[in-house]
Amino acid sequence: MTKVLPEDPKLRFGTLAVHAGPTPDPLAGAVMAPIYQTSTYVQAGLGKHKGYEYARTQNPTREALERSIAALEGGRHGFAFGSGLAALDAALKLLSAGDHVVCGENVYGGSHRQMTHIWARLGLAFTFVDTADLQRVADAVTPHTKMVYVETPTNPMMRLCDLQAAGEIASRAGALLVVDNTFATPYFQRPLELGADLVLHSTTKYLNGHSDMVGGMLVATRDDLAERLAFIQNGSGAVPGPFDCWLALRGTKTLALRMRQHDANARRIAEWLTRQPNVQHVYYPGLPLHPQHDLACRQMKGFGGMISIELGSIERATRFVERTRLFALAESLGGVESLIGHPATMTHASVPPEMRRAMGLTDGLVRLSVGIEDVEDLVADLDQALVAAG
Ligand SMILES: *Cc1c(COP(=O)(O)O)cnc(C)c1O
Repeated sequence: MTKVLPEDPKLRFGTLAVHAGPTPDPLAGAVMAPIYQTSTYVQAGLGKHKGYEYARTQNPTREALERSIAALEGGRHGFAFGSGLAALDAALKLLSAGDHVVCGENVYGGSHRQMTHIWARLGLAFTFVDTADLQRVADAVTPHTKMVYVETPTNPMMRLCDLQAAGEIASRAGALLVVDNTFATPYFQRPLELGADLVLHSTTKYLNGHSDMVGGMLVATRDDLAERLAFIQNGSGAVPGPFDCWLALRGTKTLALRMRQHDANARRIAEWLTRQPNVQHVYYPGLPLHPQHDLACRQMKGFGGMISIELGSIERATRFVERTRLFALAESLGGVESLIGHPATMTHASVPPEMRRAMGLTDGLVRLSVGIEDVEDLVADLDQALVAAG
């Protein structure tokens, strides 16, 4: 039997990451949560079962993952989904036709696409604002506003939102504050402690961390929200399979170790990039030149592994992303391996060009997901690619 209570609030993050979630398997005492690869469960008699009836509704492997990530976020209820966008879909189903959402203008492209192309058609209204500017958030609130939805840091411009202040605006409006915490992870930022009602993750990214599954998660503290989310999770049915849950659970065990390395590598690389003549600007909240560096220091325990750089033209950006060898040209982020991407044509191609321009997402912008490799090798790779890009 486990000797620690996984939900013990005194446990530190690295300990929780290893211990929260799985209880020892009652059959054999397996240390790791088994993969319950089953669709249904035998019942001893009518209405007599062990709390498990059908695997869309309950699955022990999924529950282990949900408990683990809820504990890491300092929340009480976790809900796993088949992708980050399925988690967003479930969060927006807390609302009704006619409700209004104030959303960051610089959210993940797929989140923006789901809101504007699916939910707007079904009767939700959205106003997109720069959530780094809280006055704009407050000004966008209407009597119908039921949700404020933010990412911090944003992808790929690395702008921050003051979560405590955003939480106050949302609660004055009687709206939920929902925070996509995919970039920072709970290791560096805990939105529920700053006033958020709901935290969203693409577990595809840092939480799983090994680029081998797609998944999403919502974490809540309030019981009433949790009850409605459990209904939506089962009623809409966008649940992940047990194997993907198991992979994500295995990933979270090393989250603290990995995030320390992503952060240390990215700090070194960001600082090095500021000294390269071909790099016109470096976007990284850990740099003192970042306009919200003070907020980053207050709100985050570290700055993470994501860096964006401005190379000035699409030609130079193209040459650069095609010349790196260790940094693989690919969508996604947050895995142990370093990736490089061109937001304007890749992750943010679905964002209208005029909106991209308005937020500084130029054709010369390149995004780095710094992995956990030896940093000297990563710097050497970027160095040779910058020389080649001219
Ligand atoms: C990838 C991503 C999503 C979407 O998650 P999927 O798992 O790809 O559906 C949402 N938000 C952010 C910040 C992301 O990076």
